[in-house]
Amino acid sequence: GQFRLTVKTYIKPGRRGAQIRRQIEEGLWHLSQIYPIPEPQIRTLRQEDWAHAWKKFYKPLRVGRRLVLKPSWEAFQPQPDDLVIELEPGMAFGTGLHPTTRLCLAALEEHIQPGDAVLDVGTGSGVLAIAAARLGARFIVATDIDPLAIQATRENLTRNGLDGLPDLEVDVRQGSVPDGLTGRFQVVVANILAEVLVGLLDGTYGNVPLAVPLATGGHLILSGILAEKDAMVLQAAARHGLQLVDRKQEEDWVALVVQK
Ligand code: SAM
Repeated sequence: GQFRLTVKTYIKPGRRGAQIRRQIEEGLWHLSQIYPIPEPQIRTLRQEDWAHAWKKFYKPLRVGRRLVLKPSWEAFQPQPDDLVIELEPGMAFGTGLHPTTRLCLAALEEHIQPGDAVLDVGTGSGVLAIAAARLGARFIVATDIDPLAIQATRENLTRNGLDGLPDLEVDVRQGSVPDGLTGRFQVVVANILAEVLVGLLDGTYGNVPLAVPLATGGHLILSGILAEKDAMVLQAAARHGLQLVDRKQEEDWVALVVQK
């Protein structure tokens, strides 16, 4: 018979984007060796198009009991108890459309107590840091290695009225696990791929191991993990004295909550 294969993917520009594109092309070449397929059509969107292409799919979204993610361009009438997060992710990851973001939001809602200090490693659009503020955290550090994420996070904090509040300190820094904050955070969250989480836990990037800034008794939320890779992350967590307290799954994605 005949089939049509359509791959639509938005890949960030840059070296990593070029690498992923080569892998897709290679995959198609292998497929063409076992089955005749027509010449693939590949269209590269301009940078600005990339930032806007997904917007038509993005509507206000309820997550957990009280959190609502609202695209900045959509009107929305909140209920009295709603905690609204307004987002314009731009080029950064973190709209809530991805299961891993929703898993992290649900875990944050369960584990943040008012007044907590929260660290968000790999903040992307800043969505989890903003959720932490809405849930009552009073000291938040958000980091990302990608300068576009830092820019998006700063803009989203301002959009959500979280700048210069007397009872809230938010520190947005380019980088990874911050130095000099040993035991400071009741909650640490990192939504990055399993392999990177293992590296961050073990300190293999020359970073402070991820468990170090976590307070004793504090919760570390790890997501971005494909279901078949959760054992490797759990083993790395166990090497640093962290114990599993919850595992959440949506589609093929898992979030692990471990405690120090
Ligand atoms: N926190 C957002 C969310 O939950 O939707 C974004 C998560 S996105 C899957 C992962 C982010 O981690 C990206 O913005 C990426 O730039 C960042 N990242 C990747 N490796 C990192 C590292 N070693 N340290 C800090 N951030 C990293």
